[in-house]
Amino acid sequence: MKMRGDILRLSYSNYATYLRCPRLYMLQNRFPLPKISYADYEVGNFLHRYFYDIISNKLMYDFTQPESIWNNIKSGREAIFARDFPDFENYEDMVEFYNGIKNSRIVVYRDEENYISKIEKGIENARKLASRYRNSNQKIEQRMSVYEDRVNLIGVIDILTDTTVIDIKTGSRRDDEYREQIKFYVLLNYLKNLWIARGEIVYLLSGKTVPYRFSYNELERLRKDILRVAERILEGKFDKNPQLCSSLCPYYGICDSLD
Ligand code: SF4
Repeated sequence: MKMRGDILRLSYSNYATYLRCPRLYMLQNRFPLPKISYADYEVGNFLHRYFYDIISNKLMYDFTQPESIWNNIKSGREAIFARDFPDFENYEDMVEFYNGIKNSRIVVYRDEENYISKIEKGIENARKLASRYRNSNQKIEQRMSVYEDRVNLIGVIDILTDTTVIDIKTGSRRDDEYREQIKFYVLLNYLKNLWIARGEIVYLLSGKTVPYRFSYNELERLRKDILRVAERILEGKFDKNPQLCSSLCPYYGICDSLD
């Protein structure tokens, strides 16, 4: 577990992983895998940076040829489909495989043309939306850290203005799931700065934005639920969620052998 002394560090991703499958949360912490490159993550990262640069008027040059951006992201690495990963017999095999591909491959879930088109659409929508988000008071990638009992809640808010917590998404629309995430960031801001911000999700792929408002009671319910989850982690309760078991879980196949 991510502990500092006897304080548990919890991000939204940790909290959401525990809710989905407590055992997955435990395995990710006790049996971490070498970091490998995922195309979705790297393309998302590029589009976030592009949007930040546009709204901060820092884009001094125009390098918006989607294909060359994709080649730049790949930087000579060959693509490997996640579905082509072998079946692993044990954790050691898995670590060896991840180590073997970490510098030479980039993991993809779809064809390369798809990533190029994603970059193209993301850039186009970032340009269309930029004027709405140019604001001298906004803070970009605002780090938050607050303490509640024995828990240190942490997060990075993509854009924080005087009124709104904004999260940028570069994948498909998942309003219900992202509502919970933006609520978590609004709670973090509330606990830190003592005012309730509006929430907003910006979908760069479709150019749509979705606003959210949260009441004090909703935030308080979330705060209590986070503390309940933290308590269960500290007590070492890591049940499996068999409904989530599939080859999409990196520990699928070796989950039972790890303890
Ligand atoms: S294989 Fe199933 S139980 Fe094990 S970590 Fe993955 S989702 Fe959870």
